Amino acid sequence: MERPCVRVPREAGEETRRALAAADLVDEDHEIVVDDGSLYLPVTDPEAVGDDYEVVYRDVPVHDRQRTPAELLGFDPSYERLGDVAILDEDDPTRAARIAEAILDSDLPVRAVIDRASKVKGDLRVRDWTVLATDDADRDRPPTETVHREYGFEYLLDLAEVYFSPRLATDRHRVTEGVEAGERVVDMFAGVGPFAIPMAARGAAVLAVDLNPAAVEYLRENARRNGVADSVTAVEGDVRDVAADHAGWADRIVMNLPHSADDFLDAAVTLAGDDCLLHYYDIQHEDDPFGPGERAIRAAAAPAGYEVAVLTRHVVRSYAPHELNVRLDVRLSR
Ligand code: SAM
Repeated sequence: MERPCVRVPREAGEETRRALAAADLVDEDHEIVVDDGSLYLPVTDPEAVGDDYEVVYRDVPVHDRQRTPAELLGFDPSYERLGDVAILDEDDPTRAARIAEAILDSDLPVRAVIDRASKVKGDLRVRDWTVLATDDADRDRPPTETVHREYGFEYLLDLAEVYFSPRLATDRHRVTEGVEAGERVVDMFAGVGPFAIPMAARGAAVLAVDLNPAAVEYLRENARRNGVADSVTAVEGDVRDVAADHAGWADRIVMNLPHSADDFLDAAVTLAGDDCLLHYYDIQHEDDPFGPGERAIRAAAAPAGYEVAVLTRHVVRSYAPHELNVRLDVRLSR
């Protein structure tokens, strides 16, 4: 459809756009067009454009404006996105329902909106969710299942069945980058594979253990999706029972169960080869975030004849008031 446009040489475009915007004459519903060295800026009222500008009529495309939840609600709601699922943390059910509806009505590629209904809990570290809204077109899949993309890898997972946090992506990436081809890695608490899979892609042979049968199923599927199924051995079970079968095997161990990692240090020492790098995650008070982990590692490793060298003391994130989620990288050698 033809619209009135101000035609200016391309170089004068930005200055003209600003002048038209100041006079509230920019037609936001149509796109600016560049054609043969000229710029065509659609305007709302050609009569109001001063004589300094040339007004012509021409076809311009309709502006494809994304409708955001904030536009629909009149306020900016807070939510996270994991793949095509939006995650809220709302106490008020009425407000939560309003936000969920706006997210689904917006142009965001979201097919379900869910609300945190409990803390992460139990051995499996899974939380409860309230499903607030789902896209009717996609009833066959659980609303809590999605595909998350991280550093070039993709992970299928169901938040109602497994633990997963995208907030730890940067830290995972840092750890993964240290892996070299040919290494033997044990991921003691592997979840759906966000350490195991990138490490296998760097050429490591990975033994990935998890107590949660659903996590192991997703881990196997994710290893296939990312082309590393041959390098990842996924084992379902308590890693303390699994360790003896792989005694002395590991060049590197990932221990990502920060609330209770110290309970598993004997299993880690069993798995460790004579020279082994341990990535130990912990949650401790900010007054001494690394001390308890270091002492626990030394107490477990010394009787097995290991020397312990702490290579990195890293704060991953603040976990709660005065509590830090930290990572120790520790070399065990004997
Ligand atoms: N590393 C994964 C990640 O970054 O997404 C998962 C971390 S999550 C904090 C801890 C995982 O340890 C959960 O998937 C849980 O099922 C698993 N787990 C808990 N106790 C375990 C045990 N005794 N043996 C093996 N896995 C266990």
